Amino acid sequence: MNCIQKLPENYEEVLHVDLQKDKKTALKVNGLALLIYTILFIPAFLIRHLDLMNGVELDLVVTGVTIVAFFVYIVLHELTHGVVMKHYGGKEVDFGFTGIYAYAGSSKVYFSRNSYIVITLAPFILWTVVFTILLLLFHKTLYWPLIFLQITHISGCAGDLYVYHLVRKLPDTLYVKDTGVEMSAYDRKD
Ligand SMILES: [Zn+2]
Repeated sequence: MNCIQKLPENYEEVLHVDLQKDKKTALKVNGLALLIYTILFIPAFLIRHLDLMNGVELDLVVTGVTIVAFFVYIVLHELTHGVVMKHYGGKEVDFGFTGIYAYAGSSKVYFSRNSYIVITLAPFILWTVVFTILLLLFHKTLYWPLIFLQITHISGCAGDLYVYHLVRKLPDTLYVKDTGVEMSAYDRKD
């Protein structure tokens, strides 16, 4: 079963993540995002230095389009979670913005562990591939705009990667409810 609407009797909560309330976890995820950003920025910079004087980096149109593309990407990232949730039987997928981050959630159902892992990782995998292809095609002219999008995307997936890291260690009898703002995982008591 990819998802169920009611938990079996003998299930209890084994994991709860709420990045808005749990400041320690939020700090961990932000730290991870910053670490990923730094780790990826250094080789990107070594391959081609930011040249604010001569490159397209200072071109206002390119900068404007990059900023718009970034916001479009945020919507597409959440839509990717949402499409996979729907695919696995998620009902009434909600999209929202908390003021800090955007989210997609489905509060009516419980996803199996394996479908939840696909839901969590889908945007990371899809958009990393998309930006890599764009970089291979347009690195001569749009290196920094595309590097900005790629690195911001990957480090922005820190929350998704963190949740994946927690869930992958749990048994596949697990069911997960994700409202978008918080997630709870349940497993058999015995
Ligand atoms: Zn995500």
